[in-house]
Amino acid sequence: MSRAVIVIGGGVVGCAAAHELARRGAAVTVLERGEIGAGCSRGNCGYISPSHVDPLCVPGAVRKALLAAFHGSSALTIAPRADRTLARWLHRFRGHCTPERALIGARARDALLKSSVSLYDTLLADAPVDPEHERAGLLLVYRTEAEFQAHAPTAARLGAEYGVVTEAVPPERLSTFEPALVDGLGGGWWYPGDAHARPDRVVAILRQRAEEAGVRFLGGREVSDLAPAEGPGGPVRVTARPTGTPGEPETFSGEAAVIATGALAPALATRLGVDLGIVPGKGYSITFPASEGMPRRPLVLEEHHVAVTPFADTFRVGSTMEFTGYDDAIRPDRIALLRRAAAEHLRHPIEVPALEEWCGWRPMSADDVPSIGPLPGAPGIHVAAGNGMVGLSTAPATGRLLAELVLDEPPHIDPAPYAPGRFGRG
Ligand SMILES: Cc1cc2nc3c(=O)[nH]c(=O)nc-3n(C[C@H](O)[C@H](O)[C@H](O)COP(=O)(O)OP(=O)(O)OC[C@H]3O[C@@H](n4cnc5c(N)ncnc54)[C@H](O)[C@@H]3O)c2cc1C
Repeated sequence: MSRAVIVIGGGVVGCAAAHELARRGAAVTVLERGEIGAGCSRGNCGYISPSHVDPLCVPGAVRKALLAAFHGSSALTIAPRADRTLARWLHRFRGHCTPERALIGARARDALLKSSVSLYDTLLADAPVDPEHERAGLLLVYRTEAEFQAHAPTAARLGAEYGVVTEAVPPERLSTFEPALVDGLGGGWWYPGDAHARPDRVVAILRQRAEEAGVRFLGGREVSDLAPAEGPGGPVRVTARPTGTPGEPETFSGEAAVIATGALAPALATRLGVDLGIVPGKGYSITFPASEGMPRRPLVLEEHHVAVTPFADTFRVGSTMEFTGYDDAIRPDRIALLRRAAAEHLRHPIEVPALEEWCGWRPMSADDVPSIGPLPGAPGIHVAAGNGMVGLSTAPATGRLLAELVLDEPPHIDPAPYAPGRFGRG
């Protein structure tokens, strides 16, 4: 008989996990409080970037971020009066900024990134809608030549240790390489192995693949509680209510449940006494209709860490990292920062009105590595959350590893670095 598994959360990670579970024979139900794919997975910048190996927590990261914030050039905001959860997260983040820990994080991310790249090649091939999936590379653009030169050791290390291919684009060649860029910039680094895709369509395709494998998707169900199995082989119970209405709760039971609720994963995990070390890191994007002078190549404008992604009929400008809790206000000054960064780097001013201004909560883990696997002390409950800035890039392998662990199959990558208990009790 097939094992019944309840996946909580219908973002890119939940959909990938549901698909991987169902194709292994599990009977899967996805419970999503809103619409499938309408969380952080919807308006992101669409990069599938195997080059994003380094975690955010590297030696010097805190000093660099604080200096940038002090000089007003930063895409980073931290709530002026940080709450206890955020203060603990920042303390842990700082503790991970050592060479040894950064290396552990990088290896863990590299394994998920490499696996996901090859899984996407199959998942997105011959898809029912066009995901606009292209291995069109990624160009990091620097304002000054000194910053461009300073990236050389990183590029060399990524090549030597992880096989990431890079090419330096010196200042004099930059505006020929990408004609949308203004003259006078400091140079660029080209990462030809990176890809991009329309994130909303990636989720739609994962959902459709999952439905074909038998997954049942239930939107408008907010999970308020979950109970682990009481004995070996006993059922887990998940309680959900219709979102936004006082309707009767429904109970779902199965052999396992998966918390795939992105930045909101701590709400359910702490009920079961586990601290996942995840906080929301709010980011913004603006989507414009395709227009003259939009870049041909996906870009990251390094000065403000702003991404510019060209799609078929639109292009998207996105960035910023706000540690301001579960706040979904769209701040005009953050939108202005994105527009300013684009205006300073792109030859043609963006004169068309935006199609959409959007924000989402990245699930930011204190070591910048997701939690994947069983929740300690809660038999039958598993987690797949905390994919940070690379959730689209790492979702397929996150889903596959999670399914292997739930169904007691040999894992295709070593699960140890992703253990959900590594931050202790909640
Ligand atoms: C501006 C920006 C740009 C980004 N660019 C990129 C990029 O280029 N490449 C990349 O790889 N990543 C990028 N990211 C990160 C990426 O978007 C996230 O890592 C990823 O979407 C996380 O997916 P998820 O499924 O874990 O979370 P989500 O997509 O947020 O899904 C979680 C789901 O759980 C649901 N949920 C929450 N609580 C409950 C509950 N109690 N009951 C039922 N359902 C619940 C939510 O409604 C939501 O739909 C970007 C993020 C931002 C903000």
